[in-house]
Amino acid sequence: MSEHPSAAAHAQTQADFAANLASVRERIARAEASAGRAPGSVRLLPVTKTVPSERLRLAIAAGVDWLGENKVQEALQKSEELADLPQLKYSVIGHLQTNKSKYVARFAHEFQALDNLRQAEALQRRLELEDRTLDVFVQVNTSGEESKFGMPPEAAPGFVKQLPAFDRLHVKGLMTLAIFSTDQVAVRRCFQKLRAVRDTVREADERIAELSMGMSGDFELAIAEGATVVRVGQGIFGARALPDSHYWPGFAG
Ligand SMILES: *Cc1c(COP(=O)(O)O)cnc(C)c1O
Repeated sequence: MSEHPSAAAHAQTQADFAANLASVRERIARAEASAGRAPGSVRLLPVTKTVPSERLRLAIAAGVDWLGENKVQEALQKSEELADLPQLKYSVIGHLQTNKSKYVARFAHEFQALDNLRQAEALQRRLELEDRTLDVFVQVNTSGEESKFGMPPEAAPGFVKQLPAFDRLHVKGLMTLAIFSTDQVAVRRCFQKLRAVRDTVREADERIAELSMGMSGDFELAIAEGATVVRVGQGIFGARALPDSHYWPGFAG
């Protein structure tokens, strides 16, 4: 996947990053307006996977304050290399092996891919040891593709009922990856499904309000369907060198 239709030109300077960020923010503002939503109701989570720390410093100088990372080791390494910038917040947005929970508990502010109880238990235990808390999103597989992590939509209500037992996890909302398709109707159906699941689970747990959905190629659609967080990588940083199959096993990108 070397050419991505929504990728920005490869940013090299702080001014390039500022221009790309401004353009993504403007697209978000337009999508908020055309959906009749309040300005600023959507948070931009820049996805910084594969971008080395030295290039990230330019993006940070241009206004990036959250780093969304798919792999915990890569995130941990950046949190060490960028330790002189304590204002940065780290969001782990990819599948986490239970035995790596200790790393997330140590430095992350947010984890968006919670999809099983063993994970919740491991995070709770590690967060107690670190005396920290973590914002979490429950990942739901709205596309039905086997390659995707996340729980089936019908499992979400039963799952979220168990989460109040884990007091170190501050449950914020739900996250999904839409189907990889140029069929906008199919993509939109995934976002609609996540919103419907959110409406159901919010009756059981009013903390579950947020919807993390939408990436460089589809975030306007996601905002139209109620996204409160969009995760944008290539739209800010340019096309990634690594194929997406490196991050999403089974996806032949
Ligand atoms: C890489 C990634 C994104 C961002 O994708 P872009 O096409 O770069 O915008 C969003 N969410 C997850 C879970 C990712 O791994």
